[in-house]
Amino acid sequence: MKPSEASDLLTRCAAFDNRQPSATAAMAWASALADVPLDADTYAAVDRYYGTPPKDPGQRLWIQPHDIRRIRRTIRSERLENFVYEPVDGETPAEYLARLRGQLNAVASGRAPQPPARLALTGGPHLTVAKVLEGVGRHVPDSDEEDIADSVRRAGPLGIPCPKCDAEIGRPCTLPGGTAKQPIGKTRPKPHPARIAAAKGQPPRDPAQQAREEELRREASRRALARIADEEPIPDTEIVDEDGAP
Ligand SMILES: [Zn+2]
Repeated sequence: MKPSEASDLLTRCAAFDNRQPSATAAMAWASALADVPLDADTYAAVDRYYGTPPKDPGQRLWIQPHDIRRIRRTIRSERLENFVYEPVDGETPAEYLARLRGQLNAVASGRAPQPPARLALTGGPHLTVAKVLEGVGRHVPDSDEEDIADSVRRAGPLGIPCPKCDAEIGRPCTLPGGTAKQPIGKTRPKPHPARIAAAKGQPPRDPAQQAREEELRREASRRALARIADEEPIPDTEIVDEDGAP
């Protein structure tokens, strides 16, 4: 670009950053961007630079010639994302190279319409391949949200329904019988051991063995209760307030 064009470009920059345009600056920019034309993409580079927040929020944006060059190149290459060369029958290598350059330039500058996204081939792999591939690799989520939801779903015993009390995913385990301290419908402070084991991927335990262990625990708590009842008999006296009312 010429110094007069660089001056126009600096006027655009000044609209964003209040810099003082000067003949010296125009000369310097024209020299630094001698091979870059002043076109819509060059102006767009300035707009994109000031339309993008800085990495450090407190940083003051101040565009430099190299920013123009870099962003303009990005803008042009974005249009080439789905570029496919359209060949002509019987062309020589020289003709091919010239035509390729022309087509690339036409699409990159926006003069030729941007090619639409190419259609992907559909259909899964052969059945034998699919069988081998089972369990290989891991699921790549389409979005961060999906990823988070997935990890929440899998985290801990609450990530699965309880095989013991049928508590649903995300719901705490419930006490089936209820006690004086914890009536029916009260949630259990901890998930059932079977749920914890299942969440860790451990196989369910033998129900007979589990029943024996539970009976042992019940027996132990019965004995403990009996002992407490012997040592501290429950007083028959009613609790009264200071004013004497029951
Ligand atoms: Zn449970």
